[in-house]
Amino acid sequence: MQAFVLTGPTAVGKGTVIAELVKAIPDLWFSVSATTRSPRPGEVDGKNYHFITHEEFDHMVADGQMLEWAVVHGQNKYGTPRGPVEKALSEGHTVLLEVDLDGARQIRKSMPEVTQIFLAPPSWEELEARLKGRGTEGEAEQRRRLETAKVELAAEGEFDVVVVNNTVAQATEDLLKIVGPKR
Ligand code: 5GP
Repeated sequence: MQAFVLTGPTAVGKGTVIAELVKAIPDLWFSVSATTRSPRPGEVDGKNYHFITHEEFDHMVADGQMLEWAVVHGQNKYGTPRGPVEKALSEGHTVLLEVDLDGARQIRKSMPEVTQIFLAPPSWEELEARLKGRGTEGEAEQRRRLETAKVELAAEGEFDVVVVNNTVAQATEDLLKIVGPKR
């Protein structure tokens, strides 16, 4: 089985490097998570996330349909639908999951053979600048996300490998060495 978890703090650039990896690795299958948060401008249902209601989410959890799930930033629920991941693995795809720290810990227990990657910012100041620069969250939400980021950064030692996202090109190159076909 070839599967990877990618975790990293808010605004570190997970979405951007994942898009690069998906372009670069033909058999890479990225798990589209379910979330109760509202779409950001430009986000597409079924592509970035499955945007669902709290009721739908709770039903999926109760029904055993989530491989892992967590309340992230103390607000919304995010989870990995189990069925599509199992199907992709059975078809021989390389599977990539983007989950928060809580989710990574759950996967570590239930699927210990999965390689866990932490995407880190070059510095705390740079992370703050990227979050502000993105401009998709208000000040209170930015503060909440930076609180979570402190906890996540303190846990990076739990991961199998840490990749620093200095530039998208460099981080993608580093990730390709781990996830890519030539590993
Ligand atoms: P955002 O709201 O910025 O898209 O994502 C917030 C956080 O939710 C990120 O840290 C991201 O890694 C995490 N996240 C996204 N999908 C999942 C998931 O399926 N499970 C878990 N546990 N966390 C997720």
